[in-house]
Amino acid sequence: MDIFDKLLKHMGPIGEHAARAHGYFAFPKLEGEIGPRMSFRGKEKIIWSLNNYLGLANHPEVRATDTEAATKFGLASPMGARMMSGNSDHHEQLEKELSEFVNKEDTILLNYGYQGISSAIDAICSRRDIIVYDAECHASIIDGLRLHPGYRYVFKHNDIADCEKQLTRAQEMAKSQGGGILLITEGVFGMAGDQGKLRLITDLKDRYKFRLLVDDAHGFGTMGKNGAGTGEEQGIQDKIDLYFSTFAKSMASIGAFISGDKAIINFLRYNMRSQIFAKSLPLPLVIGNLKRLELLRTQPALKHKLWENVKKLQHGLKENGFDIGSTNSPVTPIYLQGDIPEATAMCLDLRENYNIFCSIVVYPVIPKGQIIYRLIPTAVHTDEDINLTLEAFKQTKQKLDEKMYKVAEIPFV
Ligand code: PMP
Repeated sequence: MDIFDKLLKHMGPIGEHAARAHGYFAFPKLEGEIGPRMSFRGKEKIIWSLNNYLGLANHPEVRATDTEAATKFGLASPMGARMMSGNSDHHEQLEKELSEFVNKEDTILLNYGYQGISSAIDAICSRRDIIVYDAECHASIIDGLRLHPGYRYVFKHNDIADCEKQLTRAQEMAKSQGGGILLITEGVFGMAGDQGKLRLITDLKDRYKFRLLVDDAHGFGTMGKNGAGTGEEQGIQDKIDLYFSTFAKSMASIGAFISGDKAIINFLRYNMRSQIFAKSLPLPLVIGNLKRLELLRTQPALKHKLWENVKKLQHGLKENGFDIGSTNSPVTPIYLQGDIPEATAMCLDLRENYNIFCSIVVYPVIPKGQIIYRLIPTAVHTDEDINLTLEAFKQTKQKLDEKMYKVAEIPFV
């Protein structure tokens, strides 16, 4: 049998919609300067799907630094992996500044968050070790688990009683295997927007012996008094053993990092396969990230404005009777009832007739009969953007409730 045969027969759970969705719901092209208004298929839309929380993507100082650094160094520099030939003062400077900011002894830069965190899990855990993790952890963590040859126990999302139950099992198993326990959760869960219960989890450290790895992709820059993340927000940053974030969200860039105790980070530096065997982050990205971090730290007005917009949007949605679940972060889900045809018809109506562009989540990512619209407010959205969006949702929900949406006739297919 040709190994490709099955790929031609079935495109996979998302791919099976490709013929109808490609270019519109999947792989859409947003054009123009990154911001709350961009062009989609030649028409201006209000954009709610970019994790550009602080609006740094198009900040004039960021744009100037990116340009200067690219002109000076090009995208090739430095060549090679950090360990072999790809290190620089700039890389080390960024690590130093990140460590200071998130209040950890040391930091290692990662080329991408996805392989970075998978690979960190791989480097830390031997076959004797046990991983305990939240059921809603990001795919990059799940892929890290796939690399783990030992036992793993999942706890129900943010359910501390279940977390404790799994820790009890893990502790017994770790004892019999002669290994340790790594607990993995997130600072802010990217779909529902609820914070991980980090304080309650760290309280369990009194009774169970485990180390805590927190993926704070959505919390870094958005949460905590100084924007240092969800650990700062919940006052337990010192109890997080390994703090991870990507630069792909509030930093509006590429790359990621893990911070922790010096000796452990140094171990990772010499043992993370994704970094040892991959090219180092290009200098323009590193220098651009230094500038972004400077702005994130020194311009609290950006985070204030973000939260002002978060409150306006979330308050407005609640006032209009929308269910936004238990978010306590900028991530704003809107939970609606309906099936895929209705969901796509409503999304199409929002895009074409109200000029609102946002992401939609349907089965199989969530149970059948549910629709989630996911809105990401940013510091650069205006009151007008928010008001137009609230009105559009109000009108389209009414149509959904009155069963006016049938099958989406996507204009271009
Ligand atoms: N963790 C979480 C929670 C994420 O949302 C993402 C996606 N950005 C990643 C890890 C992967 O990060 P990156 O885009 O830098 O690969």
